[in-house]
Amino acid sequence: MILLKSQEEIELIRKSSLLVGRTLAEVGKYIKPGVTTAFLDRIGEQFIRDNGATPVFKGYGGFPSALCISINDEVVHGFPSVERFLEEGDIVSIDCGTDLNGFIGDSAYTFIVGEVKPEVAKLLKVTKEALYLGIEKCVEGNRLGDIGYAIQNHVEKNGFSVVREMCGHGVGIKLHEDPNICNYGRPGTGPLLKAGMVFAIEPMVNMGSKNIKFINDGWTPITKDGKPSAHFEHDVAVGKEKADLLSSFEEIEKQ
Ligand code: MG
Ligand code: MG
Repeated sequence: MILLKSQEEIELIRKSSLLVGRTLAEVGKYIKPGVTTAFLDRIGEQFIRDNGATPVFKGYGGFPSALCISINDEVVHGFPSVERFLEEGDIVSIDCGTDLNGFIGDSAYTFIVGEVKPEVAKLLKVTKEALYLGIEKCVEGNRLGDIGYAIQNHVEKNGFSVVREMCGHGVGIKLHEDPNICNYGRPGTGPLLKAGMVFAIEPMVNMGSKNIKFINDGWTPITKDGKPSAHFEHDVAVGKEKADLLSSFEEIEKQ
């Protein structure tokens, strides 16, 4: 069942979502070669707690940390580690969730470490563009499949591929609510969108083939061909006339 949120609830989800963006921006300040992913996780968790919220990923289904930090061929759900050092040319997806006053924000951003190759920069650009094209579809009267189609179409037009096994989701009261929001689909199919629905849309885009496999921790998918994968995520409320973006990359991108 897809929960509908009141405008008051949406404003509270917005506060939590904006805190996630500020947390990602704070963590982003420390991204450079030689830093461990465990250190970044500590920065993120402290920032969340200092702002009166709790990190919802920590303990969720047994996940050990406040942030998911996924490097290069890791798609999502990477475990922060004291043994994993960032290197020049890496791309690092940082995914963060907060519970602020009982409302959940969930957003992710793929950062670059130093300088990356032009094709990697293009992967990030196209993934982010696809996210915003999906968000534009979050208008009453459209259907769920319109979101996935918009994302997939843009990604594939640019020669990249969309991961199938993991999706976006409803969000706000719980971290993962109905419906699953696939990053692929057919236009005009699926449930009708209504104002008050709140979604976390999160394209996971591979430079090479769409195929993934899981590493030994049972959590982290990596690309089968070893090529990089990018991930951006925003929270958005379906609007009557236009989508209402709840999270923000503004703080991250002004650095
Ligand atoms: Mg997330
Ligand atoms: Mg999510």
